[in-house]
Parts: sequence; structure tokens; C-alpha cells
Amino acid sequence: IYSDVHSELGWSKPVRSSSILESPPRCASPFSRARLPRPFHRGLRKRAIAVLSMASFSSACRFLARRLSGASGVRRSLCSGAAGVPREDVAGYHIGGGPSFMRGMVFWEPNKPLTIEEFHMPRPKAGEVLIRTKACGVCHSDLHVIKGELPFSSPCVVGHEITGEVVEHGPHTDREIINRFPIGTHVVGAFIMPCGNCSFCVKGQEDLCEAFFAYNRAKGTLYDGETRLFLRSNGKPVYMYSMGGLAEYCVVPANGLATLPSSLPYTESAILGCAVFTAYGAMRHAADVRAGDAVAVIGIGGVGSSCLQIARAFGASEIIAVDVQDEKLNNAKMLGATHTINAKKEDVIEKIKALILTLFYSFCVFPDNVCDLKTRVCFKIHQEMGISSAYNACIFVFQEITGGMGVDVAIEALGKPLTFAQCTKSVRDGGKAVMIGLAAAGSVGEIDINRLVRRQVKIIGSYGARARQDLPEVVKLAERGVFNLQNTVSRKCKFEEAGSAYDDLDRGQIVGRAVVEIM
Ligand SMILES: [Zn+2]
Ligand SMILES: [Zn+2]
Repeated sequence: IYSDVHSELGWSKPVRSSSILESPPRCASPFSRARLPRPFHRGLRKRAIAVLSMASFSSACRFLARRLSGASGVRRSLCSGAAGVPREDVAGYHIGGGPSFMRGMVFWEPNKPLTIEEFHMPRPKAGEVLIRTKACGVCHSDLHVIKGELPFSSPCVVGHEITGEVVEHGPHTDREIINRFPIGTHVVGAFIMPCGNCSFCVKGQEDLCEAFFAYNRAKGTLYDGETRLFLRSNGKPVYMYSMGGLAEYCVVPANGLATLPSSLPYTESAILGCAVFTAYGAMRHAADVRAGDAVAVIGIGGVGSSCLQIARAFGASEIIAVDVQDEKLNNAKMLGATHTINAKKEDVIEKIKALILTLFYSFCVFPDNVCDLKTRVCFKIHQEMGISSAYNACIFVFQEITGGMGVDVAIEALGKPLTFAQCTKSVRDGGKAVMIGLAAAGSVGEIDINRLVRRQVKIIGSYGARARQDLPEVVKLAERGVFNLQNTVSRKCKFEEAGSAYDDLDRGQIVGRAVVEIM
């Protein structure tokens, strides 16, 4: 053991005490208290144990390095500790025979173009996994950061919706994690990467993880308060929006990962980690959608498209898609929408109420073109209540009867005050208005307090989902073909084109979701 430690650490002086050399202990354990010379034994014992533990640590590291290089060609030039990484170590770190650096897409300041920069190869710490990124989705949350609408530490690498391949585990990572995600595993990453230890994580509410918000969202780091990204040119730190997914490699806490079966493609599956994940959290936990529910989704982008498909999978009977672009609404029909409303051409709330009304009353004797609102109750009301004409009866019905009508669940996926109001007004009495669209910082939504109180409207915020319980479920649904991933991913682009993809997203030119293919 001594010679092993000696050569491992490159010490110039022998660490052995001359007194031990002169009188070697005869018992099985060289550190037995009884056998060591009395005057020295305390200090020696301490030192010897320290040397022993260093020896086992360094040999464990070498063992791990051998395992990694044998399994996937990954080699680490230096053995790192779990604590902070010295700068020279960062520079010396490389992936066997190959890269010691990588490229990442950096956001510098609001409304300045993203640039591609070279980084030292990021190093995972305990409980973390190094991923070779294969694909990263182009999401509105990144855009909010890029436009300066959501304050975030900069410079930072954006991108938080990834798939990739496991290439390394951080030192001292739990054996169970290594077994769950062996080298070479295809994985998908959730944008909320739960710490697993805070009071919310312990309760299973990983979507509220304190560490994620306190460190990642507030400081742009992982949960030891440090980033894993350092520029190759000058070693300066660059922050991470979630895992900093728009890069050739990224470090992800293992709690934020799920295995991606080989039947699911890297590119299309990237959206499982944010768009679909967020939609699942909203439909499953916030809205608790049940079979037979009427659901309206306002804003049919990446998340909204996923909401439609989950509503269909959960058995919703009416699924109403609301957007301002006919192209998105046509796409919505393929993803499960039973009705569509173009908010530029029609009054969203009136149309939703009218649609719901037709579910309850379908005995109108007039052909559709007689009744503008197509509520089909006008004739009966006209006869029974003596209202002058069927049309006026229709208006009456609309105003009087539909007051408490609406969908069971309305989802707002845009984050705008106008659509916030539409969402709260389109639910029935006791219905759930679920907000999942992030707004510009400081945005305020309005609500009629008396209706909220008397009609027991529930307004529920929902952010992401619970990675360890929900992400595997999302993957299972995808495997069963619940999501039309091909239809939701409307554009694939190269790493170099990521900046222009965000520009197009900003201009509303991306119908579903754009995904950047990285390696
Ligand atoms: Zn996102
Ligand atoms: Zn937590």
C-alpha cells in the first residue's frame, strides 16, 4: 500500500516512519494500537489512516478511469476530488484521445447575438453526469432570457431541453446512479433538475425544488454554487441556464435524467424534457384532467401542442385549440384538437361558451345559418319564453345561460395578460384555469374577484413537472406513440443556426418546436 501511495502521489520522501521500519508490527493489522510504539502511535495512526484512505481513493479513481476508458473510450487525465476544481485541472481534463474542449452557444447580454465559444471540457461532480449532447430544443424560456425579459446571470449557455448520451459520472457518484445510467445510455434531461434533498424534493414536489431556484435560476450554477463551464480562452466562468444544453457536452444532476429507449430518436425526443414535461405537469398535477373533461388550450406552440396530445391521452372529450395562426390551428387538429378558434377572427370566450353550450343543447330546429352563435337553443327559448325572435333568444341564452358555462380546464401557454384573462373567463363555475406561460418580469394578470369567489374559479400556476416521477412517465407515453413528435417538431437546425432559430421563434415563425441537432 505504501509503495502504491508513494508512486501514485509522486512523493519524493518516503512517508513511512523510521520507527515502524525498525520494528515492524507482527500482528495482522499494521495499525493496531497495541503494536505501534507508544510515543508515536497516535500521530502515526492518524497519518497512516489518512495515507490509506488516500490510497484507496486514488486507486478507486484509477479503477473508475479504467472502467470508463474500457467501456466507451472516455479517459480522464487527472483524478478530481468532489470539491471545487482547480483551474489547471479544468484545462487538463479531456475525453480520451479526443477533445479537451467543446463548443457552446453563449448569451452575453440582451438583444446581442448569441456566439459560439470554446470551453474546457465540463467536469461532473458527485451525483452528476456528463452528457454528449445530441439535440436541444429551442424554447420560449431561453428567448425570454435572450431578450432580457427574464433576468439571468450572464454570460450563460442557454438551452434546457436536451437528449444525449452518458459519457461520464462525477467522482463519488452513487453506485445506483451509475447502474441506472451506465456509460453509453441514451438519456433525456428535464429542465428542472431536482436536488433530491430539499424540503420540497423530500415531499415529492420536485417542481418546487429550492436548490434549483436558489442556485440555478437565481445564480446560473449547479447546487454547490459553481458553474461547470469555463471559457477555453481565458478560463472565465460562464453560467448555465438549467444544464446549459446548447453545447456539445453538458453536466446534468442525475435526478434530472431519464433513460431514452432506443426506439425514440434523439432529435424529436429533446422536447420531452421541457415542452412535453411542462404540459404533462400541468395536465396531470395542476389540472388533474379526467376522462370526459372539456379542455381549452390557449397558445399552440411547443407546450400547447403537447397539452392537446396529453388531453387526448387522458380522455378529454372536447379539446379546443386557440391561437392566432391558422397554420398552428390546422396542426392542432392533427394533434387531437376537436375544435379550433382563431383568436384574431373570433371572440375566444364567446366561442368557447357557445361550443360548450352545444354540448348540452342540441335540439335547435333551425339550420346553422339562421343562428349566428349556433347555440341551437334559440328556437326553444323563443317559443317557451316568448322572446321576440329566435336570434334575440339566442343572445338571451348566451348571456343568461352561459354565464356559468365554460370548459372544465383551460390552459394558458403564452404568458400574456390578455390570454391570462381569456383563460380565467373561459372556464366553467368551479373550473380550473391553469397558467403555464412565463411572462415578461413584472407582468400582472387581472381577475374579477367576485366571480373568482362566488363561482369558485380555480387559478393554478404550474411550472415544469416532477422529474423523477414524471419524466419516466412522459418517456413511456412517447414510447406508446401518444405524442406525435414528428408533427410537433416542425424544424430541425444545425448548431450554428441556433441563433436564427430563436429569431424565428421571436417572430412567431415556428409552428411547433424547433430543435437544434448538435452531434
Ligand atoms: Zn423550455
Ligand atoms: Zn430540491
